Amino acid sequence: MSDNTPGTQASGGSRLRCNECGSEAIVTTAGGSSLTCCGVPLEITFAGS
Ligand SMILES: [Zn+2]
Repeated sequence: MSDNTPGTQASGGSRLRCNECGSEAIVTTAGGSSLTCCGVPLEITFAGS
């Protein structure tokens, strides 16, 4: 598995938040894709394992 993917590095169980609209999301599948909302990368507020 790759843990150093560009963009939002979200592993399973990670919690993400959009600084623009305040929406929160929980990652259920580790993918390494860049997650965005409102055109900005989501910020990881809780790093899953
Ligand atoms: Zn947003």
